Amino acid sequence: MHVLVTGGAGFLGSHLCDALLAEGHSVVCADNLLTGRMENLAHLRHESRFAFLEQDVSQPFDPGKVDYVFHFASPASPVDYLEHAIETLQVGSLGSMNCLELAKKYGGKFFLASTSECYGDPLEHPQKETYWGHANPIGPRSVYDESKRFAEAATMAYHRYHRVDTHIVRIFNTYGPRLQINDGRVISNFMKQALRGEDLTVYGDGSQTRSFCYVSDEVAGILALSKSDEHEPTNIGNPVEFTILECAQAVLEVTGSSSKLRYEPLPQDDPRQRRPDIGKARRLLGWEPTIDLRTGLHLSLDYFKSAVQVTGTSA
Ligand code: UDP
Repeated sequence: MHVLVTGGAGFLGSHLCDALLAEGHSVVCADNLLTGRMENLAHLRHESRFAFLEQDVSQPFDPGKVDYVFHFASPASPVDYLEHAIETLQVGSLGSMNCLELAKKYGGKFFLASTSECYGDPLEHPQKETYWGHANPIGPRSVYDESKRFAEAATMAYHRYHRVDTHIVRIFNTYGPRLQINDGRVISNFMKQALRGEDLTVYGDGSQTRSFCYVSDEVAGILALSKSDEHEPTNIGNPVEFTILECAQAVLEVTGSSSKLRYEPLPQDDPRQRRPDIGKARRLLGWEPTIDLRTGLHLSLDYFKSAVQVTGTSA
């Protein structure tokens, strides 16, 4: 298969490129490098089945015939999408429409990277795909939440009206090597701070929860879903839930750091809780995560150590 991965220079997109290449496909990655980084693809420099296209996918573009479009382009951490608010809205709306048009034009399949953010600050717990969510449409996070909700609507419309073979994954917090050290996410911040001996910045009282999925588990779920006949959104994430304080404790243990905690204000509309119900993925795909948080942090430790060295103490 000839596959297009938008956002392939990002953390998750680059791992997806690796997995698709390992399955024998040829891959073209389109990325404007707004938050993606060429170093995530450096190991593919000499790979003949891989090509990189520096391209803002919110602008119309045509990479030639593709059999499958994986639309992963978007700033995805709160720090990144708040800094790049307009671009985030554009890539979720215009970018999704451009990518859907490509799939339609070439008779290819389409796969949307959506997000647990579609559930907003959820009133139903854990979150099943059938829950419509509780998202603030005009708050600071809305640039991400609403663009992904629009992208889901567009994807379903191309499926219904143009019979494009589409798939939608709702991704829950994912971490692992290549996570951008300065993206402000909780795992990148805590790992960086712990390795530097700085205080871990806990927002609010740290009782809010997240469920963290190691990147290889996430990619395995995404690949399984991409080969399925399922068109409606499917949660792929790790259902083991941690408070942010428990997450801080896990990072301190794995890094062996004696950093202290420092409490800072909770950002506006920060979801109180988040845990995927993965019953549908288990049933449909026979998929479930295999790597728990402490194991995943151990597997990521060398990456974070070298990333911290490269960025020094000023970043
Ligand atoms: N968080 C924190 N300290 C940090 C970064 C994040 O306490 O240095 C909290 C944040 O308030 C949220 C959770 O960790 O409740 C996850 O934040 P992240 O930015 O990783 O992603 P989100 O799940 O909110 O999209």
